[in-house]
Amino acid sequence: MSEAVTCDVAIVGSGAGGGTVAAALAPLVGDGLRVVVFEQGPRLRDDEFDGGELTMAPVLYEDGGGFLTADGTMTLAFGRVYGGSTVVYTGTSLVAPERVIRGWRVPGLLASDLAERSAKYMQQNNVHLLSPEEINDNNRLFAEGCHAAGFTAEQFPINVRGCVGSSLCNLGCPNAAKQGTHRVQLPAAETQGVEVVTRAEVLRVDPQKLRVRVSEKPPGGKGEPSTWAPGEYDVRARVIVAAGGSVGTSALLLRSGLRARLPRLGHGFTCHPAFILVAEHAQPITNWVGHPKSFFLDRAEEEGFVLETCMYFPFTTAKNLTGLGTEHAAMMQAFERLQMILVLACDRPVEENRIEVDRSGRPVVHYTFTPAVVESLAAATRAAARIFFGAGAVRVHAPTADPHIITREDTERLDERITAEHFVPGTTSVSAAHLMGGCGMGGSAASSVCDAWGRVHGVPWLRVADSSLFPDALQINPYLTVMALADRTAEAVRRDLPELSMVAAT
Ligand SMILES: Cc1cc2nc3c(=O)[nH]c(=O)nc-3n(C[C@H](O)[C@H](O)[C@H](O)COP(=O)(O)OP(=O)(O)OC[C@H]3O[C@@H](n4cnc5c(N)ncnc54)[C@H](O)[C@@H]3O)c2cc1C
Repeated sequence: MSEAVTCDVAIVGSGAGGGTVAAALAPLVGDGLRVVVFEQGPRLRDDEFDGGELTMAPVLYEDGGGFLTADGTMTLAFGRVYGGSTVVYTGTSLVAPERVIRGWRVPGLLASDLAERSAKYMQQNNVHLLSPEEINDNNRLFAEGCHAAGFTAEQFPINVRGCVGSSLCNLGCPNAAKQGTHRVQLPAAETQGVEVVTRAEVLRVDPQKLRVRVSEKPPGGKGEPSTWAPGEYDVRARVIVAAGGSVGTSALLLRSGLRARLPRLGHGFTCHPAFILVAEHAQPITNWVGHPKSFFLDRAEEEGFVLETCMYFPFTTAKNLTGLGTEHAAMMQAFERLQMILVLACDRPVEENRIEVDRSGRPVVHYTFTPAVVESLAAATRAAARIFFGAGAVRVHAPTADPHIITREDTERLDERITAEHFVPGTTSVSAAHLMGGCGMGGSAASSVCDAWGRVHGVPWLRVADSSLFPDALQINPYLTVMALADRTAEAVRRDLPELSMVAAT
């Protein structure tokens, strides 16, 4: 037996998109409407964020952060918790580049509108530049290395409030400093009466109906029990806003049978494939204290890549270093002397790269590294090597070189040593955290899934408000653009709601 529930607006997911829609629609509750968010992950108490790699990753991430693409050559990182991926993001806050939005050619979508809406969320999230004394060695060396190599590093605006530099952003800030939807938009929405039901997975959507399964808290696990009793629910809603993320929303709509009317559903997936590069200095440097990500180098337009500073924990670093045995062990033993750079390729949508579901409705992500992406990763690695050596490093670990370790004697031969031919999918650890597309915006159902206001073509009761809306890669860090797009979806819901009455239950 399933229980029946009725509301006006049902939001699936509580991350950058869902949290934003919840807050933007919260005033409707004051008008007597019922707005409910369904989040499949748990809600954690502040004292449960312990910063441990082994204790936090399984609770905060889908598959503990190890969700693999279909052929096993890349892991995709995305959150599964109250606040979604904003709980684990690093909080770098960039506005969508004008040239990228122009290139998307989505009718009715202007970069200036996204910039205006992004400014609102920058304010809500306390986005600012860190002061020079808050910059750690790892970041300072990146800026110095860029300067020495003839590049210009730019400083990331960051969304922290009271950051003490634990560097644990990607394990959920243990000091409640990072501003995600779990800290800003969701609490604001709940104060105004929006209900957020956690441990509540939406299994499928049908016209003005959702099938929801609420799970029990596992014994000894982190997080609060759901406010709804475990079991299955049939929820009726005038409008459903899907904000489960690129993979989550695409999978939900696919298993609900919507591809029959939306042939582009699941297509257009991009993710900025990335890997970590490390370089050894002669002396210890601080990279595990201080905000991990203060600078970046944007070569997207010229060479199809972006470099960012980063700090990864020992397990993640070890997993990402290519090579085995003594070479690998030597790099890990030098952990306190390691400078780290994250390389991201700006991929483009191709037909092979898409989201599907298996027979049980679980997402399956097909991804192939195109020659252009592999070339960008190699070019990015060469640029990073120049930056590392410019900063004074003695040895650089480069997965797209054979052998992988490059010493200062090789600095004149980087173009020969680091090449695309050395990139062998499956032997280099590649991961991605900027998941985009699957329900891309565009002009018609033949070429896209949604319009520029998150309205699903031909399905008035269904809206999308997350990173699945991106019709192509953003070429920079995406969360602020997700919030700006979700703000547009919420505006359209407010506008259209008077015409969306509940049809008779079937
Ligand atoms: C480690 C990491 C670091 C990052 N750092 C940055 C950064 O510094 N700057 C930046 O701009 N971006 C960053 N990002 C990317 C950014 O976090 C995402 O682009 C953004 O959060 C995507 O928003 P979303 O709403 O699409 O999905 P998410 O934020 O992932 O939220 C989706 C939510 O929906 C829930 N859900 C999915 N399906 C269902 C279902 N069927 N039923 C119920 N709930 C469901 C999920 O559990 C999840 O909580 C980072 C991402 C990661 C993983």
